[in-house]
Amino acid sequence: MTRSRPDSCPGVLRLHDAADGPLARIRLPGGRLRPDQLQALAEAARELGNESIELTSRGNVQLRQIHDAAALADRLAAADLLPSPTHERVRNIVASPLSGRVGGRADVHPLIPALDAGLRAAPALSELPGRVLFTLDDGRGDVSGLGGDIGVHATAAGEYALLLAGRDTGVRLPAEVAVATMLDAAHGFQRVRDDRWRLHEVPDGAARVIAHLGLTPATAPLEFVARHDIPIGWLPQDDGRVALGAGVPLGSLPARTAEFLAAVDRPLVVTPWRSLVLGDLDEWVAEQVVRVLAPMGLIFDAASPWLHVTACAGQPGCAKSRTDVRADAAAAVAEGRVHDGPPAPAEHGRTAADLEVSGKQHWSGCERRCGRPRGPVTDVIAEPDGYRVTPPPQD
Ligand code: SF4
Repeated sequence: MTRSRPDSCPGVLRLHDAADGPLARIRLPGGRLRPDQLQALAEAARELGNESIELTSRGNVQLRQIHDAAALADRLAAADLLPSPTHERVRNIVASPLSGRVGGRADVHPLIPALDAGLRAAPALSELPGRVLFTLDDGRGDVSGLGGDIGVHATAAGEYALLLAGRDTGVRLPAEVAVATMLDAAHGFQRVRDDRWRLHEVPDGAARVIAHLGLTPATAPLEFVARHDIPIGWLPQDDGRVALGAGVPLGSLPARTAEFLAAVDRPLVVTPWRSLVLGDLDEWVAEQVVRVLAPMGLIFDAASPWLHVTACAGQPGCAKSRTDVRADAAAAVAEGRVHDGPPAPAEHGRTAADLEVSGKQHWSGCERRCGRPRGPVTDVIAEPDGYRVTPPPQD
């Protein structure tokens, strides 16, 4: 596949002209946010946007209906959220959200700033397509199945598997060269990609990048699958403290709720499942957080139907959408029409008000299915004559 145009991924300095107004995407390497950064985002959302922070499937965030782009860039730069004007759109790094706090074979979080700094220090890598994704998996297998372009996956103490185009290459790396190898792989992708945006689109792309690296597969590749076991609720940390996993309905975090989260004054991670992890809490503080923020809409109950549902932007944010899918999905949850359990049979021509859907499901305003999670997901797609429901293929 070749592309006839450069990728159009939005950033802070290049806003997307959405149907409901300019949209900014802010990269958060590893999904990591300091409390003061979350506060800055909340204030920007309230004063310059639509009072909401959208979480993305790459652990980034978006602000909609931005009416002063220059003011936004200034505020984000002051909060260290725009450290490189030239490289802002290439800082797409997803890492195991619980790494270093709860389980895992390795702590990949120190690799995040090293990889980010290496990307920003390489002028040639500013030309990477904004769609390229780097993954850092601490061995639990939560992000290696997300279909990244270049990644590492902890396989043993001090050892990583090299992943290219979403697959294990069979190459094994000592931990101390993991970041340097990923950066070199990014240069290799630049050499072979022509106009393509993703490594899997390049014929023999992974093999050509391995040849560029001068490496040889040493073992049979591991297999990875997309996982939907979002960390939710009370998560005891290895150091005796507590992390809280919080679901965010349809990935839309109100600015007011974000300000309450920032006031807890603990590190936060935006996960690639459009949820949050608030870390390093003592038990009393964690109890207060749940007591205050659950009534504000954050989800700490792993049985919540909200955790089954994702949706694209829909109307009014997208001109292609046939309806307001987010409102329809929210109504289905509120009215008890989203269920646990195996996917229901395929159907079509259904009105929103009588749709009942079970299992992991993604609601879309058209066939493009933007933001659909990877893996087995039921598609709920708006068509001209109503909704079509398509369950995932059964094994
Ligand atoms: S899936 Fe269709 S309606 Fe939804 S955001 Fe994408 S293009 Fe728009």
